[in-house]
Amino acid sequence: MQDIRFFSGEVLPLERHKVRIVQKLNLLPVEERFACLQASKNNLYLLKNRDIFLDMLTDSGVNAMSDRQLAAMMSADDAYAGSETFFELEAVIKDIFGMDHFLPAHQGRGCERVLADLLVKEGDLLPMNYHFTTTRAHIVRCGGEIVELLCEGAEECESTEPFKGNIDTKALADLLATTTRNVPFVRLEAGANLIGGQPFSLANLEETYRICQEHKILLVVDASLLQDNLYLIKKREAAAKDLTIRDICRKIAANSDIIYFSARKFGFAKGGGIVLREGPLVGKLQELIVLNEGFLTYGGMSVREMAAMTVGLEESMDESIISQGPEYIAYMVDELSKRGVPVVKPAGGLGCHLNARGFAPDVPGEEYPAAAVASALYLAGGIRGMERGTLSEDRLPDGREKIASMELLRLAVPRRVFTLSQIRYCIDRVHWLWENRELIGGLRFTREPKILRFFIGELEPTSDWQDKLVAKFRADFGDSL
Ligand SMILES: *Cc1c(COP(=O)(O)O)cnc(C)c1O
Repeated sequence: MQDIRFFSGEVLPLERHKVRIVQKLNLLPVEERFACLQASKNNLYLLKNRDIFLDMLTDSGVNAMSDRQLAAMMSADDAYAGSETFFELEAVIKDIFGMDHFLPAHQGRGCERVLADLLVKEGDLLPMNYHFTTTRAHIVRCGGEIVELLCEGAEECESTEPFKGNIDTKALADLLATTTRNVPFVRLEAGANLIGGQPFSLANLEETYRICQEHKILLVVDASLLQDNLYLIKKREAAAKDLTIRDICRKIAANSDIIYFSARKFGFAKGGGIVLREGPLVGKLQELIVLNEGFLTYGGMSVREMAAMTVGLEESMDESIISQGPEYIAYMVDELSKRGVPVVKPAGGLGCHLNARGFAPDVPGEEYPAAAVASALYLAGGIRGMERGTLSEDRLPDGREKIASMELLRLAVPRRVFTLSQIRYCIDRVHWLWENRELIGGLRFTREPKILRFFIGELEPTSDWQDKLVAKFRADFGDSL
């Protein structure tokens, strides 16, 4: 039993760490925020960090490190080949997953690149619960086609289904039984990122593995967001109630052939790697790692990153450490729901996801509702979220917009970074924006790149709605920041 309850009965996520190194934050007045938004062309990727109060863009590479991680970094063993730090990391990973091999990579997409190069051929079919941006790019680059088989209702914003990241195993079994195309592997993504950090269940993984075995097809697990998924299995799946986080990890590994992950998320560090059992794929993957990532005892990571990851992965096996992210997210989801704000439910991992279609129902898909709400929230509180909707898609071949199935503004909760009062500030500003949602208008491109347009594209508001929002903020908050 790891929970701590309050005598008052109040339900609050309690930090299980104390803060010993801090970074000062700046909150600019709303007029200056408006100037920064205009200078960054309404694209929050182009903001300067110093002009942001709460950076909730992502959890990638921005999770707080522990005292033990920093200490380990100081004594890392530097060598091009044969670093002791690598062997320590390898031992921890083999122990966590009970697998034979760990192949290091510089980050998650490095793993995806070598796996796609080895396994995916022109015309192949790749079933999965849901894609991630970099995963899809590498599979498509190698000529593969993705089929998404999410369980029913997974793309509905509000649901009571505890495991919206589950793959539809019946659809998978039917597909594998009938397709005439080559299926190099099935992929299951932990904490399905683009649908709101939604977990899969252990039972779903076990059934998926059974189906894959029956058809002699590899099962690959993307474990980048495994940390939150582990905690949510423990909390939500009756069969896992008495298992430790380590036990759950072992069970996941026992029911998959290959696991890969980004340590920018899993492990409170940077880097990544592939984990698998002995077999004919090992040697071939090693060759691709050496070619693309680096020698087999660093794979593109610095020894300091590897040392931080070794300790960070050990810490990820501690329920009281990994509880903080999902509990903060659940708190945000509950509090915002109480205020009537539309959010993705149930709470998943990674962050709290606002349903931008509910926020700005009159802004058409072609004017990027989630991006518009993201710009409005920066004005409302100096908070940077990430648009996950139509702007993140590419246009159709005929130039029309491809309207995304979900139009979300993600407010990521980097692990161990924020305090509860900062989270409450965020809730407060989102609430204010919700009450003033009729002021939110659309955005249009003034410069639209052909590739990954959301990263460096430039936009402007379709009317003077941002001026009005800033004036309303001033009227409501007086001389407050
Ligand atoms: C972030 C992420 C990746 C890619 O990892 P990088 O370290 O950013 O290259 C792959 N899969 C999922 C699910 C992710 O969240």
